[in-house]
Amino acid sequence: MFGVYAPGRRAASLVYFGLFALQHRGQESAGIAASDGQTLTVFKDLGLVAQVFDEASLAGLEGHIAVGHTRYSTTGTTRWENAQPTHRQIGATSVALAHNGNLTNTADLAHELGVGSATTDSDLMTEAIARAVADGRSDGRGLELALVEVLPAFSGAFSLVVMDQGHLIGVRDPHGFRPLTLGRLETGDWVLSSETSALDLVGAKVERDVEPGEMVVIDAGGLRSFRPFPPARPALCIFEFVYFARPDSILDGRSVHAARQEMGRILATEHPALADVVVPVPESGIPAAEGYAQVSGLPYVDGLVKNRYVGRTFIEPSQMLRDRGIRLKLNPIPSTVAGRRVVLVDDSIVRGSTTRQLVQMMRDAGAVEVHLRISSPPYRWPCFYGMDTSDRSALLAARVALDDIADVLGADSVGYLSLPGLLEAVGGGDRSCTACLSGDYPTDVSGASDKFELERVARR
Ligand code: SF4
Repeated sequence: MFGVYAPGRRAASLVYFGLFALQHRGQESAGIAASDGQTLTVFKDLGLVAQVFDEASLAGLEGHIAVGHTRYSTTGTTRWENAQPTHRQIGATSVALAHNGNLTNTADLAHELGVGSATTDSDLMTEAIARAVADGRSDGRGLELALVEVLPAFSGAFSLVVMDQGHLIGVRDPHGFRPLTLGRLETGDWVLSSETSALDLVGAKVERDVEPGEMVVIDAGGLRSFRPFPPARPALCIFEFVYFARPDSILDGRSVHAARQEMGRILATEHPALADVVVPVPESGIPAAEGYAQVSGLPYVDGLVKNRYVGRTFIEPSQMLRDRGIRLKLNPIPSTVAGRRVVLVDDSIVRGSTTRQLVQMMRDAGAVEVHLRISSPPYRWPCFYGMDTSDRSALLAARVALDDIADVLGADSVGYLSLPGLLEAVGGGDRSCTACLSGDYPTDVSGASDKFELERVARR
């Protein structure tokens, strides 16, 4: 997500560049909403940012306020209607909303709103906000007050960028599961971004994170901060450090690249291997492999090449495509691994099918032994906060005993980073969500399974 409030500039153009830098957070759809103070316009479609927008579509997005989104579907189908920003017209007020995360009380919210056919969390939230705006329409601060009123009714993970014709608003849920950062352009104007790395591309500097539980409102009067939620334990998704975020981003004051290297160093101490070379699985496995090589003293070599030009577009995220996807995305370099005992370093094993193919790929390329080293602990519990792992039976470490995992994956050995090791590497253990690794969910997720069931039913 990316948002800009910059009087005198075409905000949609800046958001377009911001979305480019955030493409890794979602490849299924992209969209931008923009306002010139009077009219709010939305353009969105399925596909990558470069596929969705061209000069003509950007030219139609006039004005100094804009928000944008790239979608990664955790639930719900890949349909135009599910693309964001979502939009509502309430009398003379237009509201557009972009959401990163996943609500855990969708069924309750849908019931309260009497919306049986709502397809996405963002649609539900937009509807709830629109109704609150409608209730207080006569007030000049309609959207701001509407948000203060309805935000506490949302449960789960939600970083939001919201706008109407005159305001840009950023929100992080009370636990702060997903990141949201505040930046400033050279002119002093404001930018909101899911990650700090996207600020560089538009020439903005990091001001500070939007805090967990904070709402910032930006308008002609400057920036105001609100705390609409009761206090809660911060719980930034630890997988932002392991996998999601770009390595050049800073999360909660910590460099993602430095954290990943540290994961590799600790992994080498916890799980040494009798081997000849360390091979990373590109790209998120690279810093951890560097760290592993530093501590183990083994040479670091490139054993896999990533095809950078493969993206997921218009594609249902099915298991069949995950299986094929790996062959499209990665290819081995036999000259670096043939005849060698390989330590293959990856960031995580979720379902296991990709890892099994990677091990086989190494063997086919001539590796004599393959020792898997994983820079996160076994992934045993479903995520209800924005990662596509709702079905526990699909998680390898939930259905296979730890001692049997090497056999199942065809590896000579497997070593996972411990949870204390991971928390040490990210330097913020008491501020992290680790639910998929520990089963310790920061929020009540009893309603979440209902929601996934509802969406599964809706998809049939
Ligand atoms: S459950 Fe795991 S993937 Fe989901 S938010 Fe928590 S740490 Fe992140």
